[in-house]
Amino acid sequence: MKIAVIGAGPAGITAAYQLVKSGYEVDVFEAGDSVGGMSKTIDLWNQKVDLGPHRFFSSDPRVNKIWLEVVGNDYEMVNRLTRIYYQNKFFHYPLKPWNAFSNLGLKEAINCGLSYFRQMLISNKHLKDEDTFESWVVKKFGRRLFEIFFKTYSEKLWGIKCDELDSDFAAQRIKNLSLIEALKNAFLKGKENKHKTLVDTFAYPHHGTGVIYERMAEFIEKKGGNIYYHTPVKKVCTQNNKITGLETINGEFHQYDKIISTMPLTRLVAQLPEVPQYIIDFANSLKFRNTILVYLNVDSVDLFADNWLYIHANDLLTGRITNFRNWSKQLYGNEKSSILALEYWCYDEDEIWLRSNNELINLASEEIRRTELIGNAQILAGYVHRVKNCYPVYNKGYKQNLKPIENFLSSIDGLSIIGRYGAFKYNNQDHSILMGILAASNISEGTKHNLWDINTDYEYQESATITKTGLQKSNETSQPFPVHQTAQNYSQNAKELN
Ligand SMILES: Cc1cc2nc3c(=O)[nH]c(=O)nc-3n(C[C@H](O)[C@H](O)[C@H](O)COP(=O)(O)OP(=O)(O)OC[C@H]3O[C@@H](n4cnc5c(N)ncnc54)[C@H](O)[C@@H]3O)c2cc1C
Repeated sequence: MKIAVIGAGPAGITAAYQLVKSGYEVDVFEAGDSVGGMSKTIDLWNQKVDLGPHRFFSSDPRVNKIWLEVVGNDYEMVNRLTRIYYQNKFFHYPLKPWNAFSNLGLKEAINCGLSYFRQMLISNKHLKDEDTFESWVVKKFGRRLFEIFFKTYSEKLWGIKCDELDSDFAAQRIKNLSLIEALKNAFLKGKENKHKTLVDTFAYPHHGTGVIYERMAEFIEKKGGNIYYHTPVKKVCTQNNKITGLETINGEFHQYDKIISTMPLTRLVAQLPEVPQYIIDFANSLKFRNTILVYLNVDSVDLFADNWLYIHANDLLTGRITNFRNWSKQLYGNEKSSILALEYWCYDEDEIWLRSNNELINLASEEIRRTELIGNAQILAGYVHRVKNCYPVYNKGYKQNLKPIENFLSSIDGLSIIGRYGAFKYNNQDHSILMGILAASNISEGTKHNLWDINTDYEYQESATITKTGLQKSNETSQPFPVHQTAQNYSQNAKELN
């Protein structure tokens, strides 16, 4: 059986890695010059940086097993520090009671409390779960907290008003989190099984998040698989609703029995030969948002302790600032400066997307000064990296337009659709890795996992997270699982695979 994978990001490269382990012949087509997609690690000013903050966290043992198998012992547990910058103050996130209280002030804290209790008392009938992001959050936190901690950031990120944003965004990212849980987390120490957004340590490869995908690629090539770089796929070819192969941008046709695609869903659909017009129309209604990352090399080794900060301030265009000095020593080695990344989110047609690199570096330099995070430290250099199509926009009604596309693509024999822009799902690395695992399993083991459900309805009964010493079962499971398998065991497994 000949299998092609389109895209060598976490989803595609994991699928290829799993299939190669099972003995399949796999070709990976990658548009860029390296693997890792949005989760790659790049070299900059003699240091290593990711494309924005890349915390890895999963409680799915299948995802964690693969991650450990690949990373071996080359990872560490990072103590997370993240804060929210709002009205010239820094709020710890997750919440720290005294910090939150002293920053808000007594009057605002009472306002927040009253607004929450008012919300609890009034009927939530008009705030149904399936409504908008705004109603979902107001229902769980009260209007005042929504206005302070959710509104400006979300509107910066998505570029649309919170009442035009589907509640799926909240359901996927802040699922089950409520004010009560945030408070319990703040007051009760050592609580296990924290909500995903509240975990205070995370596993991180010493040399950057992209190492995982680089190692998978090495394994694939060592086992005879092919990765074709600089080879964007133009279209997937079908006949009688069955795939026949794919055509690359330079017009070459390659025949395949199965194709796993992680290329942007909208582009895939637009190029399919037998696609009805109404499916193309639905695809055209889906929108992606872009990110501009402006990296600044700052002449100091001790700027601030956060891994990243959320910038809620309305008068700053940046939405998030990452300090790579606080992730892993191996990222900066002997260098004596700190690399920061400021993120700007926009659509293709936005004026900021069209600004020159110099203009963007000037903007970021001016904004970072205004936060007072770098004091008088000198900015030595700037670098701009643009990531197109990186956020699938969950505007209200997007699901109704996505569903017919899902149904149509699922009807094509031999085609599997996975990935963040591949499946139009707001994935983190773990979701994309899981999609890769399950897409491979559908081919190699004949399982029938519904890949469209991952990151929406997909629940797995087992749960285990990564700790310093390996995988730790984190709550009761219905199936037996190796409770404390060490990273050493996994690297041994990996060696055997090699
Ligand atoms: C700023 C930012 C911060 C993030 N922070 C985190 C975080 O903290 N934690 C976390 O877990 N995740 C984070 N993510 C998300 C994470 O980066 C993605 O979930 C993950 O990379 C998605 O993997 P993927 O394989 O689905 O897609 P991608 O990473 O987008 O990979 C797709 C690949 O397909 C290739 N491709 C596209 N079109 C074609 C074509 N026509 N032919 C051939 N190849 C093609 C691309 O070049 C790319 O290499 C963040 C993302 C961003 C942008």
